[in-house]
Amino acid sequence: MATLEHYVKESQQLHVLGETASYIPALAERDPGQFAVCMIDEHGNSFLTGDVEEKFTFQSISKVISFIYACEQLGLDQVLEFVDVEPTGDSFNSIIRLENTEFGKPFNPMINAGAITVSSLLPGDTKEEMFAGLCQFIEQMTEQPVAIDEVVYKSELVTANRNRSIAYYLKSNDILRGNVEEALDVYFRQCAIEINVKCLARIGLILSNDGEDPITGEVFFSKDIARVAKALMLTCGMYNASGKFATFVGMPSKSGVSGGILSVAEHPDMQGLNGKIGIATFGPAIDAIGNSVSGIEFLKRISIEYDLSIF
Ligand code: GLN
Repeated sequence: MATLEHYVKESQQLHVLGETASYIPALAERDPGQFAVCMIDEHGNSFLTGDVEEKFTFQSISKVISFIYACEQLGLDQVLEFVDVEPTGDSFNSIIRLENTEFGKPFNPMINAGAITVSSLLPGDTKEEMFAGLCQFIEQMTEQPVAIDEVVYKSELVTANRNRSIAYYLKSNDILRGNVEEALDVYFRQCAIEINVKCLARIGLILSNDGEDPITGEVFFSKDIARVAKALMLTCGMYNASGKFATFVGMPSKSGVSGGILSVAEHPDMQGLNGKIGIATFGPAIDAIGNSVSGIEFLKRISIEYDLSIF
C-alpha cells in the first residue's frame, strides 16, 4: 500500500495540468506548484504535509460556512425559503437559471447566486455586523483570529461585474431583500477570508462529526444542518464537476477558485487516522471548471485506496 505522502507527491506533480485563477487578478500571482494537505481525526491525530503554512482565501468554500451559519442563526426553513437545494450543472457564476425558476430563487447556496442571497440574509443591522458574526463563528471553530486578504478582496471588487449583475437580478425578483451593495460586500469579504489547511481541516472535522467538535465537545451547529450542508457539498460543492466527483471520489467536498478543497471522511485506520476525519487540501492550479487539480487527484487516489466514498 502506498503511503499518504506518496499520494501527496504524485498529486502535486499534476499541478501542471491546471493554472491559477486569472479572473481575480490577485489569485493569478500564486505559485501554481504549491500543495498542502491536512487531515485531522476525531481523536486529534493529524496528517500534515507540504506547504502547510501557506495562507489562501476561502473563495467558494465560504459558501458552505455562511450557509451553515445562516441556518444556525435563522433556522433551516427560513433560509430555504430564499435558496433551493438543487444542483444546476452550470458554472458557479452562471445567471441563466435565475430567469427560468419560479420566483427567481437560486438553485442552491453553493453557486454565486445562492451564496450572495445567503450573505444578504446574515443577521446584523450593518454589513460590518453581518460579516463580524460570520467571522466570529469561524473563529470559534478554528480557535484562530480571522483576517481578510485585502489585496484579493480589492482585486475581486474591481472585477465583480458578473456577481453584481447576479445580485441586482436577485434584487429585481425580491429574493435579495436588503441593500445589494452591502450583500455583495459581505460576500466578497467572506471569499477573501484567509485560511490555512490546518484550520480548514478542523472545520471539516466538525462537519464530519455533525456540528460537534469531537476534540473539545463544543457544538457549533445542529445535525440537521450538517446533513443538509453535506448533501449540498456532495451534489453541488464541486461546481459543474459535482456529479463526476460524487461518482469517482464520493466524499462531500467544497472547493474554491483559490485552490482549496474542504472534505469530510470516515475510516477505521487511514495511516493511523481513525473515526471521523476532516480533510483540507490546497493547490492553487485549478482546472477549467475551477477545482484544484492536485486536490482532486489526491482525494481521488485516497478515496480509491481507502474506500472513502460514502457509496
Ligand atoms: N469570489 C469568487 C467569485 O465570486 C468565488 C468563486 C469560486 O471560488 N468559485 O467569483
